[in-house]
Amino acid sequence: MHSYGRFNFATVGLKRYSYTNRLRKLRSLSAIYLYFGYIMQVVIDKFSGFCWGVVRTIQIAEETLAENNGNVYVLGNIIHNPKEIARLEAKGLQTISRDDLDNLFPDAKVLVRAHGEPPETYRRAFARGIEIIDATCPIVSKLQERVRKFYDSGFQVVIFGKKEHAEVVGVRGVCNDECIIVKNVGDALKNVDFSRPTVLFSQTTMDRAGFFMIRQALHERINDLIVEPAEFGSEKFQAKDTICGQVSGREEHLARFAADNDVVIFAAGKASSNGKVLYEVCRAANPRTYFIEDVEELRKEWFDGAETVGVSGATSTPQWYMEIVKSAVESGKFGECRTSAQTLNQSL
Ligand code: SF4
Repeated sequence: MHSYGRFNFATVGLKRYSYTNRLRKLRSLSAIYLYFGYIMQVVIDKFSGFCWGVVRTIQIAEETLAENNGNVYVLGNIIHNPKEIARLEAKGLQTISRDDLDNLFPDAKVLVRAHGEPPETYRRAFARGIEIIDATCPIVSKLQERVRKFYDSGFQVVIFGKKEHAEVVGVRGVCNDECIIVKNVGDALKNVDFSRPTVLFSQTTMDRAGFFMIRQALHERINDLIVEPAEFGSEKFQAKDTICGQVSGREEHLARFAADNDVVIFAAGKASSNGKVLYEVCRAANPRTYFIEDVEELRKEWFDGAETVGVSGATSTPQWYMEIVKSAVESGKFGECRTSAQTLNQSL
């Protein structure tokens, strides 16, 4: 981060402005904004926004909506982003819960989102003649297959993740809920049965550092471990890093992007796991990082003295919404701010 101090075009004027290097820099900027005497550059992180799994899900939803005049249901929020949900609902997408399956008419079209579903959902739908449009992300489908394989082979399945997260609910279903969900090393050491052959997986959107810590702790504790160092694979213990590269691959770039900007606005749905992980990456690199779900949460004082503002988002944040955030920051017209952004920034 860097600072060149304040100046005011209205009173100083370009000709009289003597910092030639800075002027050269300012002329090269694609987005500059005259803001209360500051020049502020606002850029969108070009590596942020929808991952390909979400792009695929949204495409399937749009196509199915077009083919069925909008009469399509989806099990749970299609992604963890209320803006995109509202856009698709305006086209006719209806969000339902699993319990609602029993009330749908036969031939109803029900979309399974990228997070996937447990096998029980498919059974229930089939029994009622409901047509499932399966938009499960292939990476999640692969995770489910691998969990099933180890479970069927008699392994104790341990998942690094959040028990009620939609993806984990689906994974739990493929092993009849006979798995152990852990959020940290303490959970793992307390709940794993070390006498059993064990396999460790991860929810696709967890942080890799956390996974490695749990892997190491289990590795050290399990007796008679025969480990291939690179694989952490043995008859007794195996660890499968199933964190999605679309999440972990962004972290290094994101940290650089955050450090390169004076202020970072991270836009994501508050229910997005991936959003929370990536937000923490930004905040670690730049303490002036703010999490928002809605542009109305922007606060004028966040930008005091800032000359560069970066806008980034989660794998579930639409590009069009980041454009709205960029425009809102550039406009400098911030509305009455809600406290939710503050609360989230304090609690994360
Ligand atoms: S983050 Fe990865 S696993 Fe999740 S939907 Fe996107 S591509 Fe699929």
